[in-house]
Amino acid sequence: MSTTFSIEEPPRIIAALTRLYSVFLVIGFALVPAYLIAYLAFFQDPSLKFENHIFHEVAIAAATLEGLFVTYVTWRCYLSSGEPLLRWLTLGFLGFVLVYLPHGAFTGMAHHNIWLFLLYGPASRLVMSVLLLAGLLSYHRVPDPVDRRSKPLPWLLAIAAFVVIDVAVGVVANSPIAGDLWVRLSMEGGALVFSTLNVVALMLRRIRSPLMLIYGISITSFALASLAFILGKPWNHMWWLAHAIFAAGFFVLSYGVVQAFRTTQSFSAIYSQEELMARLAEAMARTESALQELQRTNHKLEHLASTDPLTGAANRREFIQQVEVEIARARRDGAPFSLLALDLDHFKLINDNYGHQVGDEVLQRFVQKCLDAIRPYDGVARVGGEEFMVLLPKAALEVARSIAERVRGAVATEELYTGTGRAVAVTVSVGISEFGRDGDTIDTLLRVADERLYRAKHSGRNRVVAA
Ligand code: GH3
Ligand code: MG
Ligand code: MG
Repeated sequence: MSTTFSIEEPPRIIAALTRLYSVFLVIGFALVPAYLIAYLAFFQDPSLKFENHIFHEVAIAAATLEGLFVTYVTWRCYLSSGEPLLRWLTLGFLGFVLVYLPHGAFTGMAHHNIWLFLLYGPASRLVMSVLLLAGLLSYHRVPDPVDRRSKPLPWLLAIAAFVVIDVAVGVVANSPIAGDLWVRLSMEGGALVFSTLNVVALMLRRIRSPLMLIYGISITSFALASLAFILGKPWNHMWWLAHAIFAAGFFVLSYGVVQAFRTTQSFSAIYSQEELMARLAEAMARTESALQELQRTNHKLEHLASTDPLTGAANRREFIQQVEVEIARARRDGAPFSLLALDLDHFKLINDNYGHQVGDEVLQRFVQKCLDAIRPYDGVARVGGEEFMVLLPKAALEVARSIAERVRGAVATEELYTGTGRAVAVTVSVGISEFGRDGDTIDTLLRVADERLYRAKHSGRNRVVAA
């Protein structure tokens, strides 16, 4: 068996080029908003406006609903994996939604209190960029303990903090400093700086997981959106483009969150295709070796189930099966076969005189002698304590008799040397039955062989009876 895929190693230079090209593509793609910003900055009259309050309100209502949904999905991922990054992401989304909300709600105030309308935008982006940076810095930290994840208090405190920020922005918007350029610039510029720091940190830490790639692209969008907000004026096209860039970043990041939700519910445990390939190959190699191990074990089990542990001869069950196969073959092609029933003579005396241990060794040596005397394709089985059967395929009675004599003679003429160095004289009596002549079922063949063995015993032992 082999793995289901195999790829040829590409030439080094091509591998390096494709890697470089894919990095280039990602960076080029992440910078798409920058081309749009440059296009508007160079070719569009900044005084052109599109002031439509209803459109703005609907867009922000949609953004709020979308933001709440993404916050919920992120929170669910966090509950499942406990990743600190996901905790910060949840807070980042929630903070954005709660601080951004008044920006939509106060659209109608755009004319008589422009700052109450405008300042919530940069404030929400600043809040989110700070929280996302905290998230990146916590990447690969140990997951939060399960019981801590769903404690309501920290979440309620965070919500309270966002409301406090809302109030603070309202206070600033109604104060004399509201119109100072630095107020808005410090927040928008802060968001730009934190998002940029986030991208730089991501690259410096060389984080390469696919979801973190998506994360990097969206953070780049957030940074560029802040840049566009700084370059834009309320209601002009750069300002609208800034909204669109921010929304695109938000969509991309929420795509990552939803992918996480639908798979591992974690941001760091999503693997790249390369990693998946490597893991798959590894898993298949492990499966293959486990399979081989299983086959080896199965063979061992089969062997154990079919042999006698003391002598290594086949056991009764195995012997019956072999005879059944032989009967089927004999019925098919008419070839003869015979059975020998063997029983050691006065074996009890051997145990009595030398001990059970020596008795065991005699049984083992006896099986060896048998195997030496029979043909390679004949089989010995131990069917009782000191009772054995031999299956002789393609042997009619006369052939069987001569083989039986060979076994009997070999046992009788030499003493059996046991491992303890003791020489023990032993003899064996044999009864023979032949398929067809003496019967054509296992039962009759075994019975006839046994009867003849019994007669061999009674007529003085150490002999073969074939008829
Ligand atoms: P016979 O010539 O009539 O067959 O006499 P025998 O003594 O061989 O016959 P019997 O069937 O009375 O005794 C068989 C003996 O074989 C009894 C038992 O203690 C011994 N025996 C059976 N299984 C084992 C074994 O696994 N190991 C040893 N050492 N002895 C065994
Ligand atoms: Mg016996
Ligand atoms: Mg016996």
